[in-house]
Amino acid sequence: VKTLLKLSKKHTLVKKLLSQIKDLLKEVEKPVRIMEFCGGHTHSLLKYGLDVALSPEVEFFHGPGCPVCVLSLNRLELALKVAQEKDVIFTTYGDLLRIPNSEGISLLSLRAAGKDIRMLSNAMEALKIAKTNPSKLVVFFAIGFETTTPATAFLLEITKAEKIPNLKVISNHLLTPAILNYIFKKNGVYIDGIIGPGHVSAIIGAKAYEGVTAKFNLPMVISGFEPLDMLLALKLLVEKIFQRENGVFIAYTRAVTCEGNQKAKELMGRVFKVRKNFPWRGLGDIPFSGLALKEEYEAWDGERIFEIPDISEVSKGCLCGIILQGKAKPKECKLFGKLCTPGTPIGPCMVSSEGACLAYFKYKGSL
Ligand code: SF4
Repeated sequence: VKTLLKLSKKHTLVKKLLSQIKDLLKEVEKPVRIMEFCGGHTHSLLKYGLDVALSPEVEFFHGPGCPVCVLSLNRLELALKVAQEKDVIFTTYGDLLRIPNSEGISLLSLRAAGKDIRMLSNAMEALKIAKTNPSKLVVFFAIGFETTTPATAFLLEITKAEKIPNLKVISNHLLTPAILNYIFKKNGVYIDGIIGPGHVSAIIGAKAYEGVTAKFNLPMVISGFEPLDMLLALKLLVEKIFQRENGVFIAYTRAVTCEGNQKAKELMGRVFKVRKNFPWRGLGDIPFSGLALKEEYEAWDGERIFEIPDISEVSKGCLCGIILQGKAKPKECKLFGKLCTPGTPIGPCMVSSEGACLAYFKYKGSL
């Protein structure tokens, strides 16, 4: 709140938007329930104190938009298994390295024990590593929503064109409309509106969510991640909620269009196909929610070489699976701030830089 107050002193627009939202909300009898899909939005809300500034008129429910948090345990075990194989260089994006399995083993601890595990800042680095290490098998463990999928698709197209044999990709790419559809179908609609993902929508376009908003009769406003972006999106969303208008609306117009990035969508379509089912952490198998490599890319498909471990989810008191559905808040977890802290994380929501538990710990304190 202090940050937001500081901002509103400096920026008249922040002050104006905040008071406009407050005005809209002054007649409400019970809190307006808003889900922010992205972990990035959760962090912005808490960092700038938007949640407190709009309380008690608005209650925020944190959504599943943290790709590292939703990686299932059997996929995590697959990563750990592959990283320990002889003559393998294991590559992936940063956050995944710190996620522990149920025995506390992480890619980071394996790296400390001498395994060749490398953190990438972009997918194409995996190709460079493969070319400079022809005697090794380089595995790119690809994670992320539609934001990072085009980069993996591009990597695969170039790898195929250059006929590089020693690079394999294990795809854990996920589809965001499918998870929203699943959550509301399973739990019923317990919110009034959604703050939609900004970066994902820049790729797939706002239209991609129209099926969900029509089916569950909800408004969604696509938002950027700065506090002003979020205030603008919240104002529009509250208006749409009161007008009882469902549909997808764009507040993040400098990055998002209705159709999205056509080239990126075509690229994804050439390389990936939708899986019938894909496991999500704490949620189980979700139909049509993940992407696999098409047959034309089977020579580079890591899933054809490495068997996926068949392990069931063990929670040991971690509520991540429930938090990711917006059905519990981090502080409801008995381990929060006690056994589970950023220094001693138990679940992915405390590890990932986009995780809701980390956001609460950083911005709301440990108790
Ligand atoms: Fe899981 Fe830790 Fe969050 Fe609890 S506080 S839900 S154990 S990540």
